[in-house]
Order: sequence, then structure tokens, then C-alpha cells
Amino acid sequence: MNEHLAINLMGLGAGPSAPDIYDAVIIGGGPGGLTAGIYLARSGYKAVIVEKIAAGGQIFITSEVENYPGIERISGPELSIAMENQAKKFGVAFEFDEAINIEDGPDKLKTVTLSAGKHIKGRSVIISTGAKYKNLGVPGEELFRGKGVSNCATCDGAFYKGLEVAVIGGGDTAIEEGDYLTRFASKVHIIHRRQEFRACRIAVDRAKKNPKINFILDTVVEEISGKTLLEKLKLNNIKTGVKSELSVSGVFIFVGMAPNTGFLKGIVEMDPTGYIKADMDMKTSRPGMFACGDCIQKKLRQVVTAAGDGAVASESASEHIESLKI
Ligand code: NAP
Repeated sequence: MNEHLAINLMGLGAGPSAPDIYDAVIIGGGPGGLTAGIYLARSGYKAVIVEKIAAGGQIFITSEVENYPGIERISGPELSIAMENQAKKFGVAFEFDEAINIEDGPDKLKTVTLSAGKHIKGRSVIISTGAKYKNLGVPGEELFRGKGVSNCATCDGAFYKGLEVAVIGGGDTAIEEGDYLTRFASKVHIIHRRQEFRACRIAVDRAKKNPKINFILDTVVEEISGKTLLEKLKLNNIKTGVKSELSVSGVFIFVGMAPNTGFLKGIVEMDPTGYIKADMDMKTSRPGMFACGDCIQKKLRQVVTAAGDGAVASESASEHIESLKI
């Protein structure tokens, strides 16, 4: 048994009050962070995942995943729970709170501060904070949030049984979640600002064949309105300039993502949109800090790529841990 495995096993069940120095503090419990945790713990390192809401990240609020190799189709929550259980089985600790700062200490250790004031020390940090849904920024969007405006089909779809809803966006999320919503809604209007889709062709073709889906293209939403609950959308066809109204009970907004990296300003290098710059070994600009998943600058944001990044980040973190000799 190597030294790290012995420490890890001794740490099992020690609980959050133990005077812990972790080999890796992983910030974010989505597929990237969970994979990094699984790899590190399985190699005998002591890892903790700091997660703000629920393990799984975006996947937890995704209806279905059907492009993760080896699993034909699985619900997002099921995949999240399976990954979380696998991480726990290998001894990864979980801390449910929000990380608000990371500091380098003179002892070569890094200190991650949580919003409740707790400090967690680690030999390395892996940032896997993911991304959040962007807003449309139109009048009524915030007013009717939870009263018809949603970013989560899995969470809210069932409220719209037999009712008409709209989905905004033309990416994978909008098309796939729009398709999922037809299980409940009588009609799903997918409103997209141009003719071409970012979503993969197989998803678009499937949606086009779904008789409950109506595409409204070249069109943007200008206002969301109603009395106490959402009732209608004001639309503008940006090609013809024709304005119209659409009566719906719900609107699901899937117009892209923004990285959850606000607290990392001045800590690691990021691009102008806030995505972390990480090299192919998932190293950030700060030694001992690695990043993986949807929060990094990259071409393809998927469960499988986040998991791949997480595995690479774990390997780079383990090399760093070994180099410290503390
Ligand atoms: P996305 O790919 O960035 O697509 C956002 C969509 O919203 C685009 O069609 C965009 O239109 C539209 N949009 C952006 N701002 C808008 C605005 N202000 N008003 C109206 N429309 C607006 O975002 P996503 O669909 O959430 O996907 C995020 C990432 O996750 C992608 O990499 C995607 O491939 C991945 N993902 C993968 C899967 C899967 O593999 N099964 C599922 C879900 C998500 P334009 O095209 O005109 O810019």
C-alpha cells in the first residue's frame, strides 16, 4: 500500500472536522471534478470535492444523455448520482458550500476559502466550476422566473402537462430539451434567431420529425409578459421586421452558457469571456492549480470531454503533489 493510499484509508469516515490537508481540493462536482476525484482517490490520494449545489453540475439538470460511450441512454440525474457514488466509494470527501477564494501559502499549500468561512488546505487545486445558463436580458425575464420562465426542463417540464411552451435557442441544449418537453407539453415552439442550428444534426432532424415541435426561425423574443404567471411572448422576426405575440404558459431559455469563474479573477489567467486558460495538461497560469471541464477555454463542452479533462487534471495534480515532497 503506498503512503497516499494509507493516508486516504485512514481518513475515511474521519468526517469534516478532521484537521485535513488534502492532496487535491477539487472545486466543482460536475463530470470533470468527479472524474478527477475518482482518479486521484483510486490512486491513493486524498481528495475533497467542494460543490455549491449538487454533484453532477449541469448534468444533474439535463433530461437525458445519449452520447456517453457505453451508456446508450441515461437520465442526467442518474448519471450524476452514479458518478458521485463512484467517487464516494473510492473515498473522495464532499464539502457542500461555495468556494470564494484560493490563496497560495508560504508552506507550499493552497487554501480554499468557502462562503461559510471554512478554510480547506490542499497540496493542489483542481478548478472544475463549470458554467451557468445565460439570460436573454429582455423585460419580464426576471419578473416571471419561477412563474413560467425556466432554465431546467427536467425540473419544471412536468408543470406544463397539456400546455404550450416555448424554448429559446438553437444549440444542443435547446433542441434536446425541447424534444424532452414534448413528453409533457401539448406543443413546444422552438424560437431561434436564425435558420442554421448549432445543435448536432441528429438532434435537429429528430426534433423536426416530432409533430409536437413547431420551429419559429429568424425570430427573437423582445418581451415576456403576463399577469401573475407568464402568458405571452412578444416576438420580432428579424428578417421581415414583423412583430407578433405567442401565447405560452412557459418559456425555457437555453441561449448558451457563461463560466462560473468570477471568484478567480486575478488568481488564474482567463480569456475575456471568463473561460480559464489551461494547457493540454490542464495546467493553469498558477503552479499547482489545474482546471477542467466546461469552465476552461476549449472547443467541445460535453460530459465525455469534461471527464477526459478531469482524468488529465488528476494526473498533472498528482505529478505536482509528488514534486512538493510535503
Ligand atoms: P450554445 O451551443 O452556445 O447555443 C446557444 C444558442 O442560443 C445558439 O443557437 C445561439 O444562437 C442562441 N443565442 C445566444 N444568445 C442569444 C440571444 N441573446 N437571443 C437568442 N438566441 C441566442 O449553448 P448550449 O446549447 O447551451 O450548449 C452549450 C455547450 O454544451 C455546447 O458546447 C453544446 O454542444 C454542449 N451540449 C452538448 C449536449 C450533447 O452533447 N448532448 C447537450 C447539451 C449541450 P446562434 O447560433 O445564432 O449564436
